[in-house]
Amino acid sequence: MHIEKDSMIKTDIIIIGAGPVGLFTVFEAGLMKLKCHLIDAIPQAGGQLSEIYPKKPIYDIPGYPSILAGELVEKLLEQSAPFKPGFTLGERAETISKQKDGSFVVMTSKGTKHQAPVVIIAGGLGSFEPRKPQIETLSKFENKGIAYIVKDPETYLGKKLFISGGGDSALDWAIYFAQRNNSSVGLVHRSDAFRAHKDSLEKAYQLQEEGKLELYTHAEVIALEGEEKLKSITLKQKDQEDKKVEVDVWFPLFGLSPKLGPIANWGLDIEKNAIKVDHTLDYQTNIPGIFAVGDVNIYPGKLKLILCGFHEATLAVQTAYKIIYPDKRFTLKYTTVQGIQGFE
Ligand SMILES: Cc1cc2nc3c(=O)[nH]c(=O)nc-3n(C[C@H](O)[C@H](O)[C@H](O)COP(=O)(O)OP(=O)(O)OC[C@H]3O[C@@H](n4cnc5c(N)ncnc54)[C@H](O)[C@@H]3O)c2cc1C
Repeated sequence: MHIEKDSMIKTDIIIIGAGPVGLFTVFEAGLMKLKCHLIDAIPQAGGQLSEIYPKKPIYDIPGYPSILAGELVEKLLEQSAPFKPGFTLGERAETISKQKDGSFVVMTSKGTKHQAPVVIIAGGLGSFEPRKPQIETLSKFENKGIAYIVKDPETYLGKKLFISGGGDSALDWAIYFAQRNNSSVGLVHRSDAFRAHKDSLEKAYQLQEEGKLELYTHAEVIALEGEEKLKSITLKQKDQEDKKVEVDVWFPLFGLSPKLGPIANWGLDIEKNAIKVDHTLDYQTNIPGIFAVGDVNIYPGKLKLILCGFHEATLAVQTAYKIIYPDKRFTLKYTTVQGIQGFE
């Protein structure tokens, strides 16, 4: 969906963070006929589950003796789908401002504006920021030949690509491009010990033998050259002369690290990099109308577990309803009684 910069997305609840807790908030709000719109800095839903451990089994989700993290995300998306949540993905929530009518406007890093009477922050450990290499001219080439996340892989096919990193993400993308690209693909890693899965490593060596992937171990990118956009990178290699290589795109894939980021400057009470909430009632913050649920909040006895976040979200939307409809009373009914009445 293309959204004009000046237009405003209006909803009942803005949820910041599309991790498991943000997704379940949509479901609980939906049962109360409240519409939600989720904002996430990363381009897909699922938070830590999608970003850090999609293939790991989780054993403490009630009713699932074991479920893969990625599968749980799919189930949560399926569960919330009848309530038609909106998504603004790949954009970080940057600012929040209170309006005269009591509602909030949240603006993202790309200028998309959202308005709602209630904001629920489900920001987990914060937004995931790429770990950046220390190269002086790095910022000059960001989005002009340097990309930290591979968003639309097809757009890179046929280009001269270089990837740095030794983890799963670096190896997976190197393999993906080497198998499809008819131009050169290079993979650079500081050592010869890779953190990536053994199968991926074997595949990479095989592609190297087939001449589809250039592997540079004990090597790193130390300089970037170009005018308007990146044209070449300089590789420092062990026991060898520095080497200049022409590239169209360089992907430094050194992982993502979470940062509370702009939320820390919104006037919320913060303790130990987390948002203090009223744990006796509804997980509301010191700013009425703004709630914090899941890993992002702190209160005595807090446990950073998915099921605790689910509970917090369920209570938060009860008060959200009272803020949105001060004159109405909501009577809780079991889902077994009322079923699921999704939105048109
Ligand atoms: C390896 C590992 C194993 C784990 N195993 C278990 C387990 O077995 N059982 C269990 O219960 N828990 C487990 N956890 C913990 C569990 O993953 C977290 O409790 C859970 O992810 C919290 O969900 P959340 O929705 O609160 O936050 P997250 O999953 O952290 O999602 C938060 C989202 O908010 C986004 N965000 C933050 N700030 C902004 C912003 N300003 N703008 C836009 N987006 C923003 C982030 O990009 C992120 O996608 C594990 C964690 C790890 C790392």
